[in-house]
Amino acid sequence: MSAIEYVEKVLADVKACSPGQDEFYQAAEEVLHSLVPLLEKEPKYEENGILERIVIPERSMIFRVSWVDDAGKVQTNFGYRIQFNSAIGPYKGGLRYHPSVNLGIIKFLGFEQIFKNSLTGLQIGGGKGGSNFDPKGKSNNEVMRFCQAFMTELYRHIGETKDIPAGDIGVGAREIGYLYGQFKKITGSFEGVLTGKGLNWGGSLTRTEATGYGSVYFAQNILKKNGLDIKGMRCAVSGSGNVATYTIQKLKEVGAIPVTCSDSRGMIYHEKGIDVTTLKAVKEVGRQSLEAYAELHEDAVYTPVHSYPEDRNAVWDVPCDIAFPSATQNELNLEDAKALHKHGCKLVNEGANMPSTLEAVEYMQSNGILFGPAKAANAGGVAVSQLEMSQNASMERWSFEEVDEKLHKIMKNIFDAAYNTSVEFGKEGNLVMGANIAGFRKVADSMIDEGAI
Ligand code: NDP
Repeated sequence: MSAIEYVEKVLADVKACSPGQDEFYQAAEEVLHSLVPLLEKEPKYEENGILERIVIPERSMIFRVSWVDDAGKVQTNFGYRIQFNSAIGPYKGGLRYHPSVNLGIIKFLGFEQIFKNSLTGLQIGGGKGGSNFDPKGKSNNEVMRFCQAFMTELYRHIGETKDIPAGDIGVGAREIGYLYGQFKKITGSFEGVLTGKGLNWGGSLTRTEATGYGSVYFAQNILKKNGLDIKGMRCAVSGSGNVATYTIQKLKEVGAIPVTCSDSRGMIYHEKGIDVTTLKAVKEVGRQSLEAYAELHEDAVYTPVHSYPEDRNAVWDVPCDIAFPSATQNELNLEDAKALHKHGCKLVNEGANMPSTLEAVEYMQSNGILFGPAKAANAGGVAVSQLEMSQNASMERWSFEEVDEKLHKIMKNIFDAAYNTSVEFGKEGNLVMGANIAGFRKVADSMIDEGAI
C-alpha cells in the first residue's frame, strides 16, 4: 500500500467509527495528510500499525456530573476525560467547560495535544477533558458545586505521574482552585495533580501568561527567519480570555499594536491599541461582555456578532500585519483568509486550538501568508504547565524571569524543530508539515519501542 493509500484507509476508518465527530476528523485529516512524506520514507510506521493506533484514545471516560443549583434544583451535565496517548509521558491537557463540548471536540483537542506536547521536548503525553457545563451566568457557589461534582468522578482517573489536567476555555484560576480543593478532600493528598494552580498552593509564576506570551515569541521566531520585525506591526487578535489577553499584553511590551479583541458576543476595534487594564477589568474581573470596554473608551468601536454575516468573523476584516486567532476552533474560514490576504496580512499565528479551517490554511499557505500552526504556536501553556510539575516534584520555586527565560528557549526549540523538519522534507517554511512530522516521530518511535499495546 502506498503512503497516501495507508493514510486514506485510516481516515476512512476514523470517519466510520466516529460518526458526527467532525472536529476530530478535521484534526486527524490535517495531521495524517502531512505525514505522507515521512510514511513514504519510513515503512516501519505502517508495519507497526502506528496510524491505526494513534487515532484511538488509550482510554475514554464519559461520566455523569450532577449538582444542585442555587434554586435547589438538580442539574446534570456530561463529563469527559480522554487519555489519548502516554507513549512519552503521563497524559497532560486541559479541561474545557463550554456548552458546545461533546466527545468529538474533546477528542480533537486530545489528539492535537499528543503532538503539541511532544514538540515541547518535554516528557508529557496527550489528554483532554471537560464538560458541556456553561460557567457563564452561574454564581460562584454553583461553579464550586459543579467543580466538586466533576472532581468526585475525575479524581480516580488522575494523578501526578498518571494524568495531570489543566485549564482551557471556561476553566481558569477559580475553577482549578475548586477542582484542586475537592481532589485534596477526597484523596487526602497534596500533590501536583493539576496545573494552573494558585501561587500560594503550588502554582508556577508565568503559567497564567504562558500561552499568550509563548504565541508572541513563536511569531517573533517566524518573523526573524523572514527578515521582519514585530515592532510597529498592527495585530488583529480574536478572543478576550486567557490566551488573547496575554498575547495582547506581550504584543504591547514588544512594541507591536494590538488593535482588536473579541468575545462570543462581539468585537472591539481600538485603533490606538487595546488597553490591557480595561480588558482585564471587563473580562477577567467583571466577567462582562466587551460592550463594557467600548463604554469606557469613546474612541473604541464595538461590533456585535449579530450585526455581521453569520459565516464571517469581523476581526479578520480589520487591516493588520499579523492575525492572532486566539478564541476557539474554526473561527477563521476561507473567506476570512481571503480578507486578511486582501489587506496585506503577512502572518497568521494560531493562539487557539485549530482556529483555522483546512481550506483557510491551504489558501494562506498557497498565497504567501506566513503561518504558525496552533500545536507549535500555542504550546507555551502546556510547556510551562510541565515546568509547574517539575517545581512541584522538586519542591522548588522558580522566579518569573527564570520561567520566562525557559519559555523563550522552548518556543525557539519548537520553531527550530518544525522549521528544520520542513527543510528535511523539502518544504522549507511549511510549519504545519514540520510541526506534525516532528511531533509525530517522537511519539511513534516510542510506541514502537514500547511494543504492541
Ligand atoms: P478562555 O475561556 O479564557 O477565553 C475564551 C475566549 O474565546 C473568550 O473571549 C470567549 O468569549 C471566546 N470564545 C469561546 N468560545 C467562543 C465561540 N464559540 N465563539 C466566539 N468566541 C468564543 O479560554 P482560553 O483563552 O484559555 O482559550 C482560548 C483558545 O486557546 C482555545 O482554543 C483553547 O483550547 C486554546 N488554548 C488555551 C491554552 C491555555 O493555556 N489557556 C493553551 C493552549 C491553547 P466569551 O468571553 O464571550 O465566552
